[in-house]
Amino acid sequence: MTPIILLPGKLTTNSQGVRGDSFSTGRRYSEAVARAGGVVVQAQPIEQTIKAANELVARFDGVIIQGGGDIDPNRYGQQPRSTSIYGISAEHDDLEIAVIRAAIEQDKPVLAICRGLQILNVALGGTLHQHLADVLADGESHWDKYHEIKLESTSRVAEAMKTISPKQSHSFHHQAIDKLAPGLVVTGRAPDQTIEAVEHNSKKWIVGVQWHPEDDADTEPDQQNLFNGFVNAIAR
Ligand code: MN
Repeated sequence: MTPIILLPGKLTTNSQGVRGDSFSTGRRYSEAVARAGGVVVQAQPIEQTIKAANELVARFDGVIIQGGGDIDPNRYGQQPRSTSIYGISAEHDDLEIAVIRAAIEQDKPVLAICRGLQILNVALGGTLHQHLADVLADGESHWDKYHEIKLESTSRVAEAMKTISPKQSHSFHHQAIDKLAPGLVVTGRAPDQTIEAVEHNSKKWIVGVQWHPEDDADTEPDQQNLFNGFVNAIAR
């Protein structure tokens, strides 16, 4: 049986060959999952899909949450404090939060990437740094950079990647976890201590990473191994 993985899509306004707006998921996620032996299917961010999140997740083997714009700070009980916040969408927040909560409830494997890690934390009651440059000495150090990641040796992410210091981790985020949500544990950090990886402490395989493994998974085995580990967790 081929593992079939649900991936919430994003509103996209510049697609070719489509009359009007469309919904999209990143090609790199589908290809990384395909190399691991799985298939990705998109969930559209519309009201009816959001309402059906529990039933939808029940019919899939796992969930990937892709990168994207910022989460509305109201979702974690704050007003927007930074002019750098961008790309807020109620439908994206609603669908991803509903899908993550359903996956945790049903104990389906989840790989949550970049914004995905952030929304995993918010869905479970955590908060975010709204703009890293406001709290770090070097505010640009996570924006389109390759920086070191140090993983906890006994974590699921290290087990999947087969290393505690993965090569070629592409960092592209201006926010990060502040208060960690109940149920999550930190499993990886940047040299400046920014949280870069988390997992759920009691579920089968709920893993979040702040960097973009899909960007380099086609050439870098450490990064592809994360997708392999995710798909293998479904098979177990
Ligand atoms: Mn980073």
